[in-house]
Amino acid sequence: MDKVLTKPHISFEIFPPSNNVQNTKIYQTVQALGDLRPEFISVTCNNKRLNFKDSTLRIASYIEKELQIPGVVHLTARYFDKGQIDYILAKLKRVGIHNILVLRGDLVPGREPKNDFKYATDLIDYIKQKDNSFKIFGACYPEGHPESPDKVTDIRRLQTKVAAGCDCLITQMFFSNDTFYQFRENCALANIDVPILAGIMPIVNRSQALHVIQNSASYLPKKFIAMLNRYQTDPAALKATGLAYAINQIVDLVTQDVDGVHLYTMNHPDVARHIYQETETLFAI
Ligand code: FAD
Repeated sequence: MDKVLTKPHISFEIFPPSNNVQNTKIYQTVQALGDLRPEFISVTCNNKRLNFKDSTLRIASYIEKELQIPGVVHLTARYFDKGQIDYILAKLKRVGIHNILVLRGDLVPGREPKNDFKYATDLIDYIKQKDNSFKIFGACYPEGHPESPDKVTDIRRLQTKVAAGCDCLITQMFFSNDTFYQFRENCALANIDVPILAGIMPIVNRSQALHVIQNSASYLPKKFIAMLNRYQTDPAALKATGLAYAINQIVDLVTQDVDGVHLYTMNHPDVARHIYQETETLFAI
């Protein structure tokens, strides 16, 4: 008998603008993304600005209420204390947001962190004990978190994160699917059995490409570097090949039974739309 085909979901990530969240541009962006009916849209939070309520929460509420799509708020552990988290959880409940991506968060040089939650797991533990009804997402790193001493330790800590109540994992971006498959296998061996969504970042312009080359701890495959080198002075060709590269990654991931694809949209709805149109039939929408 033919195998029953289960289709994965696609989800998107956006970030709040650095200026005024009231501005209409970000709402046009989320509306355009919402038209594609993703499984959810997640909204990052920024430890430099620490304006969770007026940016991340406001945009996620809009996604949830106006677009009727689940909004996932990113919530960082290091710069909040228990009182602030209690306030945020109550507010999330009031506006009807049930999904939280719990992170330690990027550390800001010169800013002293709070002491209540040191790691993402500490905050997951706290939220789950307070209110078990939230769906909790967590971050994971196919190539290991840069601060982890080695991959075994990294996977053990991920086990602890999932045991604390993490319902679903989202990976850091990666450009080599083999790295992801190896990581997925290591998770399975460690009995980490929650869905793992593959984080895909389409590279569509030169500054983004340079940023990835200079800052990414990810392994960059030869063909990826060749693409960036060859088309770095031709914006249209770079965009076209960057999109094709991401689409190839996605097609391969779906063929290999990925649980879901999480697209780092960088607030470019046209990029998300193009990828969606090329891969639509692969996803459960
Ligand atoms: P953790 O899981 O807490 O791990 C951080 C480090 O601590 C790891 O090296 C881990 O091995 C180690 N560790 C964990 N537990 C212990 C322990 N008990 N003892 C000793 N060491 C331990 N950053 C933002 O600021 N805002 C965002 O919106 C944001 N969104 C993101 C979304 C995704 C999908 C991903 C993958 C990352 C995102 N980040 C964001 C970046 C993230 O905050 C950083 O990568 C951060 O350095 C780690 O966060 P974490 O939640 O993975 O940390």
